[in-house]
Amino acid sequence: MFGLACIMGSIAYAPRHDIFMLVGSLLVGGGWFAFGKYGGLPLVDTVVDWHPSAAPGAIEDMHRQGLLVMRRRRWMVWAAIPGAFGVAALLIPLLMQSGHPELIVLLLGVPVALINFRYYLSRCPRCGLGFFTTSASRAALLRRGNTCGHCGLSLYVYKNP
Ligand SMILES: [Zn+2]
Repeated sequence: MFGLACIMGSIAYAPRHDIFMLVGSLLVGGGWFAFGKYGGLPLVDTVVDWHPSAAPGAIEDMHRQGLLVMRRRRWMVWAAIPGAFGVAALLIPLLMQSGHPELIVLLLGVPVALINFRYYLSRCPRCGLGFFTTSASRAALLRRGNTCGHCGLSLYVYKNP
């Protein structure tokens, strides 16, 4: 409900604020609305044809491929930080000329947030639950770490034995 209130508020106050405030509060409101309505954020698949593994502790080729996908996403998260600074250095002079330097937050924040969410909302390639989520059904709370919170699959077993 807080999300809806946020959206309503942003629309009601839009004439007094600028477009930046409108888009920003729409994003925040939409995020809270997703939390309330769906009980969390949607998870991102790591393997295409996921199926439960035969043995609970086994590590199959499918798991290794999924872990490689996750590692690629993690590289994207790290690469996004210097990338964002580089793009900011290029774009800020242009935006200063147009008189809207605050737009840089939107132009960089949205893609960086998407890259981060794609990694932290990855499904575990072995158990199919959220790799970083603390609960099996909700993706509302995330924890950091290099092992799956549900089946203990490590990010570092992607190598062939
Ligand atoms: Zn798992």
